[in-house]
Amino acid sequence: MNKKYKIYLIVIIILIVIITISLILYINKVQKLTNKSTLNSLKELTKQDVAKIQNNINEHIRILETIVNETENNKLEKPEQVFEIYNRNSGNSQFSRIAIMYETGQTSTNDGQVVDLSEEKEDFFSNNDVKISQTRQSKIDNKKINIYSKKTKLGNENVVILLVIETNKYEEIFIQSIYSGNGNEYIITKEGQIIAKSNKNENEINIYENITNTIDNKKTSKNILENIKQNIQNNEDGQDILYNGIKKYFVTYQKLNINDWYLIIITKGSAVAEELNQVIIIMFIISILIISIISVVSIYILKSEEKKEKSLYNLAYIDPITKLGNHNYFNQQGEKILINNKIKNKYVIALDIDKFKSFNKKHGHKLGDKLLEEVGKKLKEILKENSIICRVSNDIYGVIVYEIEDIEQQVSSICQNISKIIINNVEYNILIYLGIYKIIDNKYNLLESFDKALIAHDKVKGNSEKQHYIYNEKIELQLEKENEIENIMQQALEKEEFVIYYQPKISSKSNKMTQAEALVRWIRDGKMIPPNEFIPIFEKNRFIIKLDKYIFEKVCKDLRFWKQKYEKTIRDSNKNDNENNNNSINNINEDIKVPMISINISKEHFYEEEFIKEFVNIAKKYNIEPKEIELEITESATLNKQIDVIKVMNNIKRYGFRLSLDDFGTGTSTLAMLQNMPIDTLKIDKIFVDKIDFNDTNKNIIEYIVYIAKKLNLTTVAEGVENRNQINYLKNIGCDMFQGYYFSKPIDKKNFEKYIENSK
Ligand code: C2E
Ligand code: MG
Ligand code: MG
Repeated sequence: MNKKYKIYLIVIIILIVIITISLILYINKVQKLTNKSTLNSLKELTKQDVAKIQNNINEHIRILETIVNETENNKLEKPEQVFEIYNRNSGNSQFSRIAIMYETGQTSTNDGQVVDLSEEKEDFFSNNDVKISQTRQSKIDNKKINIYSKKTKLGNENVVILLVIETNKYEEIFIQSIYSGNGNEYIITKEGQIIAKSNKNENEINIYENITNTIDNKKTSKNILENIKQNIQNNEDGQDILYNGIKKYFVTYQKLNINDWYLIIITKGSAVAEELNQVIIIMFIISILIISIISVVSIYILKSEEKKEKSLYNLAYIDPITKLGNHNYFNQQGEKILINNKIKNKYVIALDIDKFKSFNKKHGHKLGDKLLEEVGKKLKEILKENSIICRVSNDIYGVIVYEIEDIEQQVSSICQNISKIIINNVEYNILIYLGIYKIIDNKYNLLESFDKALIAHDKVKGNSEKQHYIYNEKIELQLEKENEIENIMQQALEKEEFVIYYQPKISSKSNKMTQAEALVRWIRDGKMIPPNEFIPIFEKNRFIIKLDKYIFEKVCKDLRFWKQKYEKTIRDSNKNDNENNNNSINNINEDIKVPMISINISKEHFYEEEFIKEFVNIAKKYNIEPKEIELEITESATLNKQIDVIKVMNNIKRYGFRLSLDDFGTGTSTLAMLQNMPIDTLKIDKIFVDKIDFNDTNKNIIEYIVYIAKKLNLTTVAEGVENRNQINYLKNIGCDMFQGYYFSKPIDKKNFEKYIENSK
């Protein structure tokens, strides 16, 4: 990711952080404010409830005091009279009964019960004012009750008048359900003992235990609870918030001024702040939405920018066919490797697919592209690490390998693995050539180094034995020479510097020349350049196609001329018609027969389908029939895996030419392979003929070759015969024909004509 995007991303992250922090701060602030106002309103509510409770209790006290006053004023003597007053004054109060306790503790109720409260009598008699008891259990019906009591006199006896109220009546009267049951109200003692509570389902009898079970164990909550306890102990009112995780409880407490009682209200925060919670949730959702939208938009922008940049990068650096780097990438990345002195054993390789153009032509561009892709894939598979693989142009790959111990081994692995390519389940034989340049120092930059690799590549291109070449200074000189030749070849052809020499082939039976081979010579400025100096170059640059056709045409022309000069003369002399004869043929003998001429054909023709048609047309032009010409194809040409050579040979034969397999024994074809070749003649290479002289054990091979050739009905020609010994041996083993310096070197047309005339 580049700097621009990094900044962009940072800005977005900062923006999101700011929004989140603002949201948290805002929510916090709102919460604080609401807490405060909630506590205030709860405080108000508590105050109101305290007032209400006190009013009610005061009303109870007033009723008791009324009863006591009337008892005293009327000097009543009997409990029934008191009960009578009670009946008049209690109205709708929730008292369950009235009772009168005597000093013995004996207590009579208005509903006729008598209970012994002697154990507690002290409690009741010790107080002159109205007293309200803590919650206790009724001895009559076991119900939870509270008792209002006041001392008085009944007749002569000291008594306490008791007004009994069931505690649950308190709960009915005083405690209202707060916030639909989400707030609980309690009347408690200072110790937290619950006297009355709004939620009847609660079992707890101590409010502090209840709270301890509800709030979390954190120090703050515990401290707050302790604080509440302390305040209540000190007769102080107050309010606070207790927490349990994210849940919170508002607690308000106020003294009731009755005994040591307190009213405490505990309200669930969720109930109070429901609306607030909703607002917070909405705000939260909106914020999340805003953050998400910002994020999505940002990601989209970033992605599309990245995509744009990637496609620009691809355009500039990636080859769309192979998905490898292109020449730009090769230059850029390669240079980095080159100048990095820590990286050792670096090689720049130029690699190409031989005859890729022909492949494209034959199979179409789509398959051609696929081939390029597959070769790229294979290279990647073989080289893996420590390499840069690019397609720099057409079918040329630029490869850099480094930290390589054995380049020869690396290269042979490449050649071995990239010899067969499978595309759509069809296997194609391909040939690659590699030019290698070893980086020794930083004398050359990448492009210059690649040029060196290309020079080495040019050197090996078209070679049938070798697929790679490592650059050395010498090859540059050779290449210069080759370049010189390339510069002048076309001109040389036009200037007729290429001439034909003929070398006779002698029949072993008749000892006479029956055939001859046409061999090209380049005569430039009076000097003869031998074919092995220019033919390989012409094969590489395919000029051989032109030259072979040129030689073929020349041979046809010569043949036509000789036919007219010799054979026609025979006919004419038979007819005694001399009008067309020139002087030189006056003394021609009737036995003269124009030998069959063999012409060398380079394998380069085979890549062009139907090439043979052109040769047929040339022959036709000179009224020469194909069967009068033999075409020589070297054995090495038949080993080309890229072409179906047998098919090419059959095609040549179909048009009527004789076919000869040249230099047999130099390639790696086996005798068995000969069976499938539609050839007429087998030319045994000079190296086997040479062995005859040295009594080499391999001498037997030649015997074997001749034997097999005979079995296959092939004419055998021994090349490079130089002495009598060889001839004797070859004759002995049944070789059909000899070609060599013993009989004649290749000679020019003039001398060859003499040879023809002399070999009658
Ligand atoms: P090739 O077709 O095998 O031709 C035979 C070569 O052996 C000729 O060399 C010939 O001069 C040489 N030779 C023949 N007898 C003897 C002998 O007794 N001793 C020695 N030392 N050499 C002998 P040349 O003419 O230099 O041709 C070399 C090769 O060049 C040919 O080998 C052929 O492959 C190729 N070539 C020649 N002319 C043409 C041509 O017009 N077209 C093509 N495509 N190739 C040609
Ligand atoms: Mg030949
Ligand atoms: Mg030969």
